[in-house]
Amino acid sequence: MKTMSVTIDIEDWYHVPAVCSSSFSKYKDTEDFFSKWNGKYDYLTEPTMQTLDLLDELDIHATFFIVAEVVNRYPGLVKAIGTKGHEIACHGYNHMCYINARTRRPIHSREFFLRQMELAKKTLERETSQHIIGFRAPAAYVTGWMIDVIESLGFKYDSSVSSNSLYNKTDSKLKGVGRMPYFPEKGGIEPGPPRGLLEIPWPYYEIGPIRIPSAGGPFLRFLGARFILEGIKQSLRSGSSLLYFHPLDISHEIFPSEFSWRRPFYWLVKGRIVEDRIRWLLSKLDVEYVTMSEQAKRWTRMLCDFADVP
Ligand SMILES: [Zn+2]
Repeated sequence: MKTMSVTIDIEDWYHVPAVCSSSFSKYKDTEDFFSKWNGKYDYLTEPTMQTLDLLDELDIHATFFIVAEVVNRYPGLVKAIGTKGHEIACHGYNHMCYINARTRRPIHSREFFLRQMELAKKTLERETSQHIIGFRAPAAYVTGWMIDVIESLGFKYDSSVSSNSLYNKTDSKLKGVGRMPYFPEKGGIEPGPPRGLLEIPWPYYEIGPIRIPSAGGPFLRFLGARFILEGIKQSLRSGSSLLYFHPLDISHEIFPSEFSWRRPFYWLVKGRIVEDRIRWLLSKLDVEYVTMSEQAKRWTRMLCDFADVP
């Protein structure tokens, strides 16, 4: 049977790159944001609880990629996710982007990235008593040197790479990257020989030479469930696939509008309609739902057998 993972990125509205922690953000980082912001900031707790209820209803154990500082700013929330039996994985410490969005060149040192990811991993492990082995780069900006660093910290898989015709957030051309999990080469993102870390790339919908991202997130809101479902079905031909969304995608609240002039339509479709889309598309799949770590374990074993690694 084909395997499928549901993945959820735990971050709040101010973690998005337009607001905090990127080469084009208003605030340098979340510390800077909290030193200046006086309004309500928690738009995350309520839709995360909604997400946990939805997963209970669907009887799915998901993987939560969590911005580690959420442990400190939303007491009890990460623990609540862990006690439901979901896998806890890492989505950075404060959702900082480590490369320039335009040039893909580093804007922070390798050493700084290493220290922050070490702190993120420890923070999540202390809170949930789970061994954290999964990583997703904040805003999916990822490079080979970042992969090397997280491997050195004991992470076993990354799931940030999306090969598609609309955007590329890596420093590689992704020539050899498709929808199947693979071992990235050292220092790069292109496929290489077996190593201690597996990349689980995102699904896409292929029409001729065009690849349209269909992992979920904003594309689930913009393009609808039918399209995402078709992309996931295509990807499942290789054996497995994944869906991702944010609790913010199913939130009923209106987020602070200070930044909406930059992306006026970004949050136009969200809330109940998106929750129903998730429910509908997952009901259409005849798959075994597994966590990402389980998916990584199975693929690692299979690819190593295939490469005849002792
Ligand atoms: Zn994110």
